[in-house]
Amino acid sequence: MATEAPAPLRPYILVVEDEDSLATLLQYNLDKEGYQVGQCADGEEALIRIDEKQPDLVILDWMLPTVSGIEVCRRLRQRTDTRNLPIIMLTARGEESDRIRGLDTGADDYVVKPFSMTELCARVRAVLRRIRPGLAEDRVRHGDLMIDRVAHRVKRGAQEVHLGPTEFRLLDYFMQHPGRVFSREQLLDAVWGSDVYVETRTVDVHIGRLRRALNTEDNNDPIRTVRSAGYALDV
Ligand code: CA
Repeated sequence: MATEAPAPLRPYILVVEDEDSLATLLQYNLDKEGYQVGQCADGEEALIRIDEKQPDLVILDWMLPTVSGIEVCRRLRQRTDTRNLPIIMLTARGEESDRIRGLDTGADDYVVKPFSMTELCARVRAVLRRIRPGLAEDRVRHGDLMIDRVAHRVKRGAQEVHLGPTEFRLLDYFMQHPGRVFSREQLLDAVWGSDVYVETRTVDVHIGRLRRALNTEDNNDPIRTVRSAGYALDV
């Protein structure tokens, strides 16, 4: 069992950029904004990294070694698991950026180089807010549940709910994807991290604690158990 309190759940952004200085700058600024940042410098590696751990958003340079940004984007859009993965494409100024827009690669937004970090961070927030409203906000509401990520508080109706760090992260994750069913493995990966060894049964233990904390009154249980599949937050 994991005994240490896990760090708060932060959106994970993968930066795919082969220009070292820009990649470093992006990493620094996104990290400062509170995101978890991964980095790689070519298209093929990007696809592998996305397979290993799906990011919440990808910042993708158009011109990349091995597989181009456009091709990475197209492949991600063809796959069911990454069809809706938010992508911000970085393009060069001028004709190239017009052309790439015309190609309709399926990117959610395009940022033309050179750009300011303030602008890029604003675009990142905007895309996250549009695509996953729960991810970019400090406070998220779902039904009678409210989670405040800054104050680390949870309320059900008017009632304050006290959760341990793991239960807080579980609820936070569910509230980002209401109605979606997650397997125990997916929850382990998202909430505990893929590099931590925890038995899948641990998930059941923490779901149990989360339920007990949320269901103090005669209210409905918002966590649905899906037989042989996993758990979901009811919509
Ligand atoms: Ca490049």
